Amino acid sequence: MVTASVENGVASQNGQTFAQSAKVVFVLGGPGSGKGTQCASIVEQFAFTHLSAGDLLRAEISSGSENGLMIQNMIKEGKIVPSEVTVKLLQNAMERSGNDKFLIDGFPRNEENRAAFELVTGITPEFILFFDCPEEEMERRLLGRNQGRVDDNIETIKKTFQSFH
Ligand code: UDP
Ligand code: MG
Repeated sequence: MVTASVENGVASQNGQTFAQSAKVVFVLGGPGSGKGTQCASIVEQFAFTHLSAGDLLRAEISSGSENGLMIQNMIKEGKIVPSEVTVKLLQNAMERSGNDKFLIDGFPRNEENRAAFELVTGITPEFILFFDCPEEEMERRLLGRNQGRVDDNIETIKKTFQSFH
């Protein structure tokens, strides 16, 4: 079994630290631009582990953790959750996966997110995959999504577009 640790300086495979061997690709694009959909295909073809920052945050709400209510309010307002919370969730998920290739979807949302990720994990991402999608199309896709999400309503969508820009 392959084990890996994301603690800085802890050796994993081939004498390399997890941070040195990990391949991270950030997948960005507006809300509803199809990041999740495309990541699923990339996972099938290239054996990456797909981590959606939004999904991890929603799982944290469902788990009833102490941060859950704060996260729920921020998502409802289309605001960006504090970096320390999101980075910790991503770090735990990478650690648990047993893989060393990751698509991180919907993160970073800003420069502070990016800096916190690199500082905490010690990982420098390989590159960024960016989906450029017109706003009318993203809005059409979000309103048609029907997954019962608190943020799939026209008021939140407008706020999320503003945060995105
Ligand atoms: N979010 C955040 N930080 C992140 C990712 C997501 O604060 O790194 C919050 C933010 O409020 C965002 C919401 O989670 O509006 C939904 O994000 P997601 O990436 O799931 O949006 P999608 O593109 O799937 O609608
Ligand atoms: Mg998403």
